[in-house]
Amino acid sequence: MTLASPLPVIHAETGTAAASPAPASTRDNTLADAQAQLADAIALLGYDAGIHAMLAAARRELTVSVPLRRDDGSTQVLTGYRVQHNISRGPAKGGLRYSPSVTLDEVRALAMWMTWKCALLDVPYGGAKGGIAIDPRQYSLAELERVTRRYTSEILPIIGPQQDIPAPDIGTDEQTMAWIMDTYSVTQGHTVPGVVTGKPLSLGGSLGRPSATSRGVVHIAGAALERAGISAHGATAAVQGFGKVGRDAARFLAERGVRVVAIADQYGAVHSSAPAGIDVEALARHVDEEGTVVGFAGADPLDPAEVLELEVDLLVPAAVEGVLHEGNAARVRARIVVEGANGPTTREADRILQQNDVLVVPDILANAGGVIVSYFEWVQANQSYRWEARDVEARLGERMLAAWAGVTTHAAELDITLRAAATSLAVARVTEAHRLRGLYP
Ligand code: GLU
Repeated sequence: MTLASPLPVIHAETGTAAASPAPASTRDNTLADAQAQLADAIALLGYDAGIHAMLAAARRELTVSVPLRRDDGSTQVLTGYRVQHNISRGPAKGGLRYSPSVTLDEVRALAMWMTWKCALLDVPYGGAKGGIAIDPRQYSLAELERVTRRYTSEILPIIGPQQDIPAPDIGTDEQTMAWIMDTYSVTQGHTVPGVVTGKPLSLGGSLGRPSATSRGVVHIAGAALERAGISAHGATAAVQGFGKVGRDAARFLAERGVRVVAIADQYGAVHSSAPAGIDVEALARHVDEEGTVVGFAGADPLDPAEVLELEVDLLVPAAVEGVLHEGNAARVRARIVVEGANGPTTREADRILQQNDVLVVPDILANAGGVIVSYFEWVQANQSYRWEARDVEARLGERMLAAWAGVTTHAAELDITLRAAATSLAVARVTEAHRLRGLYP
């Protein structure tokens, strides 16, 4: 398949899109999966039903209509959401997703995962997520600006640098963040850079933020390979998604000497059995020109579903939720799965992978690099001071590896999965904050 024209550059924060999107029914279960993970953690920790109920429900949910004047003069009304799952440890924090499949339940699940992610990595935030049900590729830049500004004005009462801080996610980018910051700032009468993260550098963004999620994924992948006794140099990897997460993750893996043998995007996949694997830089240049990995001359075409089922040391799903499910999990032959996307593994798939001794490093640990550097960006914005790239990268690496050590130690002590360990550590931290603050009134 070839594309008539290159796609607009709207990068995904946690991948572009699935190479083999899960059936709709699987993706509809995202919230049920998140709730089941919470229930497991509550049971493990022995917490009561009251705490469970507090953590199962979002603190605040806003559904808004977003009327859009199209370029042709017609009006379309879109639906947007902002869910603040928890604010016990600090302001709500999480990305904003533009995708046609966005639903309130999906945003609820993603907001809950943000709470656990921030708590696990010990950044002083709660969790939130936003979304608009829109396919950004079908809209002009001017239309996207109007949608973003109107959505921002609709959620204005609940966002702010001490309240709730959006960031990029699938379908949004630093330009989207600049529009949100400007819209918010206009209403305040002064510039408020701390209201969003993932901003352009020239507006107070942080060095190292665009590649932070991918860097974090690769720190964790390196640690996981080491634990499995596999040398990164010469290890094989397959990456699903070639957006902001998958693209740089593939690049950083290759820099570490990992042979990236297969890469998928939402249009197709490529595979190479060459000793050095895929030339990721050359593939990136091809994608910049063509908008897809399809047609890359330096590798062979592959059925995108097969990327998840290759015999590799490392599989990095870096696209959307639910791509590893009951229907394909038994065919996964990777030794290690590092979740670059949020929620790529369904509950059933988790169980099957565990039975088959596949080490799954959960999303709330593996892809936390983005929110860690978002936190660094917010700190820098609040202090009007810029850190050097090497400081950002060193602190990111320290936090990722400290969290990895904490999760793996806890998992070994209790003989539980890394997901159960990570979720229960996070749930315990949020509960502790909640207990110390007490219940008002
Ligand atoms: N959207 C990213 C995530 O899912 C980053 C969120 C943030 O930086 O606030 O982790």
